[in-house]
Amino acid sequence: MIKYHPSHELLDTFVTGQLPASFSAAIAIHTELCDICRNKVAQLESTHANNTFTSVADEDHYLTADMLFNDWEMDSLISAITDDTESIHATATTPQSVSFNDTAYQLPRALQHIVLGKQLHVGKLTRSRLDLNEGAIHVSLLHIQAGGCIPNHTHKGSELTLLLEGSFEDEMGTYNKGDFILLNSDHTHSPITKHGCLCYTVVDSPLTFTEGMAKILNPLGNFIY
Ligand SMILES: [Zn+2]
Repeated sequence: MIKYHPSHELLDTFVTGQLPASFSAAIAIHTELCDICRNKVAQLESTHANNTFTSVADEDHYLTADMLFNDWEMDSLISAITDDTESIHATATTPQSVSFNDTAYQLPRALQHIVLGKQLHVGKLTRSRLDLNEGAIHVSLLHIQAGGCIPNHTHKGSELTLLLEGSFEDEMGTYNKGDFILLNSDHTHSPITKHGCLCYTVVDSPLTFTEGMAKILNPLGNFIY
């Protein structure tokens, strides 16, 4: 069962389209798996749509199509609708999957058209980058084999983990498929997975390992970032 959800503020920014693509994708994946947040998003969408309509209508008391579109836009809109052969021939999208260490995982809808980078391996960790072109914000699929762990670390910025399959635990709790975990520099943790897991991760700075010998692992922090 999903225990960790995006905040109301994040869902609201998602609905108004103000989030970077990396965070939008995480919320889209989460709402695909979480009935509670899917309903909240639907409510926020209808609230925002009503507010927008009311504020436009208030200005002129009523609204007609020619107030929203000029002639050229109206013509383009009509021809776009009438010429839209694509929707007539639309077929159901085939679920795409990705394999890590000989196990196939079905990708969530939000990730089915995103190009995945080649897989890099360090110990029980495998990382495949998603190129969303967001500068310092790095997005990856991170696979950890059963028994794998990431030593105690913190972050200069934030770390978002969306659990796609499997489970892991750290000092703060146990996480399962669909959990949305957003941490910042206030958090220090050492995740471990008993049975393996696949995560969608968004990190905006390298991980910093904090304890004694673990500090020699700081190149691993760059790998995960
Ligand atoms: Zn949720």
